[in-house]
Amino acid sequence: MNNPQTSVLISDAQIQDRVRELGRMVTKDFPDGELIVVGILKGAFMFVADLTRAIERPLKLDFMGISSYGRGKTSSGEVKVTKDLDMQIEGANVLIVEDIVDTGVTLSYLVGVLNQRKPRAIRIAALLDKPDRRLRPVHVAYCGFQIPDEFVVGYGLDFDEDYRGLKDICILKEGA
Ligand code: 5GP
Repeated sequence: MNNPQTSVLISDAQIQDRVRELGRMVTKDFPDGELIVVGILKGAFMFVADLTRAIERPLKLDFMGISSYGRGKTSSGEVKVTKDLDMQIEGANVLIVEDIVDTGVTLSYLVGVLNQRKPRAIRIAALLDKPDRRLRPVHVAYCGFQIPDEFVVGYGLDFDEDYRGLKDICILKEGA
């Protein structure tokens, strides 16, 4: 679909190819033990749905709600858990699935919170990474794409709750 306010940065086909590759990597890296996928709402919902189908081993799925951006294009810098996990993660391998790592503030906070619950290990899968913007170090074990410092929408990512349903990842044009 053509939208005058957006331009495609990463196409649906590129996303699907890369997500399948990431799924193969996760499958190989976790040959045994309990694997709990923790999807971060709401932006990661499509990535979680595709990645879990590309991981060919048993897994459990839970979601966490985190807010750091509020409305608009800039982070408030404050991280808040808006929905906690329903599951216990003690002793389990945890795979956090996030849409995008920007400053790293959200994920470094989240890893700190989850580590207190004594999982066996925590790894991060992030569809997108904006390395230029990093303020806190975060190790992303499975990264879909590194992107420049642009505000992107689509494939689950929003701007004030719009655009989440786009199949491609798109740059939101200035003034949109
Ligand atoms: P961080 O704490 O790493 O700065 O921010 C991570 C969160 O900011 C992401 O989970 C996402 O919700 C939001 N975010 C960062 N960059 C973008 C962007 O380009 N587009 C959208 N829609 N959200 C972004």
